[in-house]
Amino acid sequence: MAENKPAVVCVFCGSNPGKEPDHLEAARSLAQEFHKHNVQLVYGGGTIGLMGEIAKTLVSLSGPESVHGFIPRALVKRAKKAGNSTDATDSAGKAAERLVKDDVLDEDKIPASEYGMTTIVEDMHTRKRLMAEKVMEGGPGSGFVSLAGGFGTIEEIMEMTTWNQLSIHKNGLVLLNIRGYWDGLLAWVCTAVEEGFINAQNASILAEVRDPKDVWPRLLEYQVSSARMQLNWG
Ligand code: AMP
Repeated sequence: MAENKPAVVCVFCGSNPGKEPDHLEAARSLAQEFHKHNVQLVYGGGTIGLMGEIAKTLVSLSGPESVHGFIPRALVKRAKKAGNSTDATDSAGKAAERLVKDDVLDEDKIPASEYGMTTIVEDMHTRKRLMAEKVMEGGPGSGFVSLAGGFGTIEEIMEMTTWNQLSIHKNGLVLLNIRGYWDGLLAWVCTAVEEGFINAQNASILAEVRDPKDVWPRLLEYQVSSARMQLNWG
C-alpha cells in the first residue's frame, strides 16, 4: 500500500433504504466520517437505497472526485421524472439501481455532480473486480465495509472476506452492525469456528463495529490474520 495515497474504502450496502431510518442515518454518518478522514468511497454506483444515500452525502461534503461508482449497464435506467433518489419503489427504478435523469443523453457520460464519478461496466464480475482493485491500490486504511443490505450485499462482503483468507488482498473488512442487523451472520461465524469450519484466528478477518465513528479507526488498525492461506496469486 502506498503510504502517501489517500485511503479507498469500498462500501457494500443495500439497494433498498430499509424500513428502519437508522440504516439511512448510518449511511450518512459514515459519509461524514469519510469526509473527516479524507477517505475516498468506491461503491456499486446506485442512486437508490443506502447506496445512493452514502454516495450523495459524501459528494455533498467532499466533492464529486471523492466517490467512484461501478455499475453494470443492465442496472442503469433513465428516470422519467426526477424523484426521491432513495425511493426504491419508484416505478422507473424497480429493476434499476442507477436512475439517470432524462436530460442525460449519453449514459456513459453521467454527470458526477450528485453521485460522483461513474464507470459503466458490462457485468457483475467486472464491477466487483474493479471495485476491489481500487481498494488494493489505495493508501493505508483502505478496505471494505458493509452496511445493512440484502443478498447482493452479503455476497459482496463474503467474497472479499474469502479473498482476504486466500491472501488475494490484505485489506480490512468491517461489518457496521446497526440495530444488530448482522448479529445472525456473526453468530454463524462463531458456530463455524466451534464446529471446525473456520479457523479461530480467521474469524477476526471480518471485524464488527456498532458505531460509524469506529469504522475508520478499525480499518487503520486492521491486522491480517496469521492463519490465512499463504498463496501466490501473481
Ligand atoms: P442488495 O443487498 O441485494 O440490495 O444488493 C446490493 C448490491 O449488491 C447491489 O449493487 C447489487 O447489484 C449487488 N449485487 C447483487 N447480486 C450480486 C452478486 N451476486 N454479486 C455481487 N454483487 C451483487
